[in-house]
Amino acid sequence: MEELRLLPSVHAVLQQNDWEGGEKDIPVSVIKKWVQEEIDALRLSLLKGSYGKDRERERFMAIVSAGVCKKMEINGAYTLRKVVNATGIVLHTNLGRARLSSAAVAHVMSAASSYTNLEYSLEQGTRGSRHDIIENQICDITGCEAALVVNNNAAAVYMVLSALAKQKEVIVSRGELVEIGGSFRISSIMEESGAILKEVGTTNRTHLHDYSAAINEETAMLMKVHTSNFKITGFTKTVSSNELLTLKEKHQELIVYEDLGSGSLFPFPRYGIGEEPEIKSRIYAGLDLVSFSGDKLIGGPQAGIIAGKSKWINHLKKHQLARVLRVDKLTLAALEATLLSYHKEEAAKEIPAIRDIVRSEEEIKIQAERINEKLASEYECHIIKGHSMVGGGTMPDVVLPTYIIEVTHPAFSASELSRRLREKTVPVIVTVKNDCCHIDPRTVDEADEAALLSAFLSL
Ligand SMILES: *Cc1c(COP(=O)(O)O)cnc(C)c1O
Repeated sequence: MEELRLLPSVHAVLQQNDWEGGEKDIPVSVIKKWVQEEIDALRLSLLKGSYGKDRERERFMAIVSAGVCKKMEINGAYTLRKVVNATGIVLHTNLGRARLSSAAVAHVMSAASSYTNLEYSLEQGTRGSRHDIIENQICDITGCEAALVVNNNAAAVYMVLSALAKQKEVIVSRGELVEIGGSFRISSIMEESGAILKEVGTTNRTHLHDYSAAINEETAMLMKVHTSNFKITGFTKTVSSNELLTLKEKHQELIVYEDLGSGSLFPFPRYGIGEEPEIKSRIYAGLDLVSFSGDKLIGGPQAGIIAGKSKWINHLKKHQLARVLRVDKLTLAALEATLLSYHKEEAAKEIPAIRDIVRSEEEIKIQAERINEKLASEYECHIIKGHSMVGGGTMPDVVLPTYIIEVTHPAFSASELSRRLREKTVPVIVTVKNDCCHIDPRTVDEADEAALLSAFLSL
């Protein structure tokens, strides 16, 4: 095709536009890649015959340049970008789960830009242990004897099984052989860890005698898994960790471990939200070990926290995997500041995830009305009652009453509107339902409101 010869070269586009110095801190190599992508896209549309008239060199140059400028505008130098979460799903797994509190952010900044006593005892002037940074605080808050922090809760489960039950049997109820997002399955992680899975009971019913009958010389552990992301109802029976602990009277050497999944340090049931057990109740019951995520209901950084009896935690600390799975100072700083909010009993005020989950309907309604009024000039929109979800695979049966702004654009379909909103410098993520875009203000901070409105009002 003749016109293909009129397509500009990468070099020509770069020369014409003078981006060589790198715009907005975007490396020239990235700009070059974008130029190539735009040229390729234009070539394709010519070949496919989807390109219109005006097939001349200057026109092609202008199209490619404009495409690259748009990419610069939208993407900036970074691939990981801030977005506005207007879905109302608080711990949105795809949007990075928990946001950190401002205290946590400040603490991370300070730890990141300075030297720290990460592995240094200020008292002795000698080498210290990074485990000490946060262990006391976890013990104070949960009542445990000892604790260890690793990369995430999946790593915590893996470590507990591998370090304490390799080539030994671990008894788990069939009703708790869960799969959570990102292809994490208890059965697979068990296999990977070298522990031998001994399933007992059935999907809907497991009894204490199922466990006791399965115990033999090869048994190292009784494991409970919090079925955080689904709920079986009807003819069901599960064995509580308290009941499991009674089996230790006859089998003292057994480790009773519960993977709590989200884990909670906040009394959500007192706010009428769910039945998530508080971690300290499990520790108090006498479990040997529990593990839970840092960035689910705790509302901190990604981390896996293992808490329980010193005998086992000390064993874990000395294990090779402690080095493999260890967290960095930034995680420790974020976690320390997050836990401090619980210490001060300010979690509902300071930790964004908790704050969003317990937000009052009244407050959300006022915010919905404010947003609705601003959008009314360009959109057909009104407020309806709805439900927000906690997300992150936690409290799946809990619906949080909320107010939703249902938005339709006079010209675009809802999916087109949501696509355009994702193209903004600060992308706005909405839910599309019945050909309307839904904005749930529960997860939209007042500080995010300006970005949300500007995205909607500048299509
Ligand atoms: C979420 C979850 C995990 C994994 O935790 P991550 O911190 O995401 O690695 C493990 N077990 C259960 C029961 C969970 O809910």
